[in-house]
Amino acid sequence: TAERKTRAQAPKPMSFEDIGGQERAKRELKEALDFLIRAEDIQRLGIRPLKGILLTGPPGTGKTLMAKASAHYTNSVFLAASGSEFVEMYVGVGASRIRDLFKEARTRAAKENKESAIIFIDEIDVIGGKRDGGQHKEYDQTLNQLLTELDGIHTADAPRILIMGATNRKEMLDSALLRPGRFDRHIEVDLPDKKGRLHILNIHAKNKPLADNVNLEAIAQETFHFSGAQLESLMNEAAIYAMREESDFIGQQHLSLAVDKVMLGEKTDRESTK
Ligand code: ATP
Repeated sequence: TAERKTRAQAPKPMSFEDIGGQERAKRELKEALDFLIRAEDIQRLGIRPLKGILLTGPPGTGKTLMAKASAHYTNSVFLAASGSEFVEMYVGVGASRIRDLFKEARTRAAKENKESAIIFIDEIDVIGGKRDGGQHKEYDQTLNQLLTELDGIHTADAPRILIMGATNRKEMLDSALLRPGRFDRHIEVDLPDKKGRLHILNIHAKNKPLADNVNLEAIAQETFHFSGAQLESLMNEAAIYAMREESDFIGQQHLSLAVDKVMLGEKTDRESTK
């Protein structure tokens, strides 16, 4: 019955300092999260509670990291699920999984003595896609259950529950999800600019021995259009090149090879899906 696949949560708390670049997104997100923290004031002033935050942007830009950091920032329990888990489920199973997710959030908050819970749903477009006359009956039920849960959240509830959804296809979402009082706060998590790329490279270089000749700024300069995930992968590939050469340090030459490797890898991926 309760065969749930909620992903095990990382024990290491992720904080906003561990996320490179994305300064605007982090600022906007923290502002929104203050609504969760200042719940008494919100209630006193009769402000509608914040229920849903939508993180939008290309893959690998740190949306999942943002959701985890949000839980850390607000001292909330964190639960995660992905829209793709709901694909090909029997009718009704998706809906009951959503119900379980909310139930588990409340139980865990009580058990861990936390005042709030954040439920993160990655690829929310899979369940919240535009409805087209009942063709996707199962997704409709799942989506309806999600809407019911969202509508059932009240300011005075304990624990306070916040849903964070992530998508890279915002235009695909059903407008019912985006109505005021549902996912009405949208935060764009875009590809990093040069400064952001440098920040991300530095974060992922922290536990790595870099040679004196390394110029991460030059790497940030030539990795236009790289996502955070690609930059993380670049640092890792560079370390592998260094190991192959039996080198104690990661040098600029290893980083340059890794830039090419990640770029080429992307191209091959794209070609193979043609
Ligand atoms: P997807 O849409 O594919 O689920 P996402 O936007 O949720 O992607 P994450 O899962 O948060 O991306 O990022 C994947 C990995 O890439 C992270 O675990 C991290 O190593 C690295 N990464 C991505 N963005 C950043 C960032 N801004 N700062 C540091 N690391 C990052």
